[in-house]
Amino acid sequence: MTAEIIDGKAFAARLRQSIGNEVTRLQNEHSLQPGLAVVLVGEDPASQVYVRNKGTQTREAGMQSFEHMLDVSVSENELLALIERLNDDNAVHGILVQLPLPAHIDESRILRAINPLKDVDGFHPVNVGGLCIGDPSALAPCTPVGCLLMLKDYFDGSLAGKNALVIGRSNIVGKPMAQLLLKESCTVTIAHSRTQDLPGVCRAADIVIAAVGRSEMVRGDWIKPGAVVIDVGINRIQSDETQKPKLVGDVAFFEAAETAGALTPVPGGVGPMTIACLLRNTVVSACRQAEVECRL
Ligand code: NAD
Repeated sequence: MTAEIIDGKAFAARLRQSIGNEVTRLQNEHSLQPGLAVVLVGEDPASQVYVRNKGTQTREAGMQSFEHMLDVSVSENELLALIERLNDDNAVHGILVQLPLPAHIDESRILRAINPLKDVDGFHPVNVGGLCIGDPSALAPCTPVGCLLMLKDYFDGSLAGKNALVIGRSNIVGKPMAQLLLKESCTVTIAHSRTQDLPGVCRAADIVIAAVGRSEMVRGDWIKPGAVVIDVGINRIQSDETQKPKLVGDVAFFEAAETAGALTPVPGGVGPMTIACLLRNTVVSACRQAEVECRL
């Protein structure tokens, strides 16, 4: 293996430490304690784990965590009423509604009901549009922000002029990732399920972001020597060796590690960065709402 492994777990731990320090300063200097409300509808086990982790890490950073666990039968109007209460609550600076929502609830209606200032997931159309036009106050989605922080760290701050390929065009990862890379003056290509000759397109990229949801789809011989590969995919498969379930990314890790300059592992790469960036967005939002400087 020749590639450098980008340790997202350690990076996220450092980021949470600096967030915790900023929260202490905000409390001491401005009596401001950032608060994050997380809303979960139903009992999906994976979502329950995410919500629990978010709550724990929010409290560990010295912030307030408000968890709203709703029955799967909750009506759209009841959920809208809760969001209205959270929008009006001065102790809540960030609101996150865990997706997916049950089929009887209109996801886009719920996301649009969140006050854009408290939209720490960055999914409200006001923030999506703000990201596209380069509005510095737009809140960007947490997973792509985490990927960007790791890339900027690897390249010592500047990504200008790099050929960046984003594989996947979802609203949660692919599209905002492409916007963030464009903002950094990369030459950005977005590939998707209808892209022709994806291996060939990939071989031209200095930076590859894989956000597809297909286990080990990106092979080692797709990678340009020295390229930096960020693997967003989380795929649960059965291990051949142990016959137990295990997590793999969208990139064939050991193959890619022979050619890439650096890459993120799964687990331990992008995943831990996502929650850390959620905490970061919440602190940034709290400062904006309180009209005080944020030093993150
Ligand atoms: P999605 O299903 O919404 O989007 C997948 C995208 O992949 C689509 O735009 C589709 O066009 C593209 N695609 C599908 N097949 C393709 C193919 N053969 N070639 C090229 N492109 C193809 O998924 P998403 O929400 O963007 O998530 C993608 C992956 O990232 C999933 O594995 C998800 O679990 C993971 N994810 C991880 C985190 C994290 O924190 N690490 C956060 C969000 C998503």
